[in-house]
Amino acid sequence: MEDCIFCKIVRNEIPNTVVYEDDVVKAFLDITQVTPGHTLVIPKKHVADIFEYDADLAAAVFSRMPKIARAIQTSNPAIKGMNICNNNGAVAYQSVFHSHFHLIPRYTAKDTFAMQFGDNSADYTSDQLQAIADRIHAQLED
Ligand code: 5GP
Ligand code: ZN
Repeated sequence: MEDCIFCKIVRNEIPNTVVYEDDVVKAFLDITQVTPGHTLVIPKKHVADIFEYDADLAAAVFSRMPKIARAIQTSNPAIKGMNICNNNGAVAYQSVFHSHFHLIPRYTAKDTFAMQFGDNSADYTSDQLQAIADRIHAQLED
């Protein structure tokens, strides 16, 4: 896509720090470096978000994730864990609308990274949970 910043990175039209590249994906350092080694993995094909993937593209992209994650991990013995984040939609904090996965190596609990899950379990009966699951399930084919 002509004006997409990540398509421009795929085409090397803007500077980027590549850590891995093949015919399907490109992995490069995120400019913000939330923690040292913070890497973005993107499909070379422009898809805006997870809702635009087909199964083949998803399989191809995810098949690259373990080896890229392991390479980041083993590049620095101080890395103790990793968060992998994928934001979809502005409401979910997506700011670049070419799908990407953040690989954020974790060093300590004091890393400048936070993820907070609210616990609303007290608000739901098991019947309400089942009704939600049934509505989702009804949308799935196969
Ligand atoms: P999002 O908020 O969409 O999940 O993440 C977009 C990410 O892209 C941000 O973490 C931001 O730092 C990164 N980013 C935006 N523009 C550039 C760029 O030109 N180069 C690189 N390397 N990263 C970028
Ligand atoms: Zn793009």
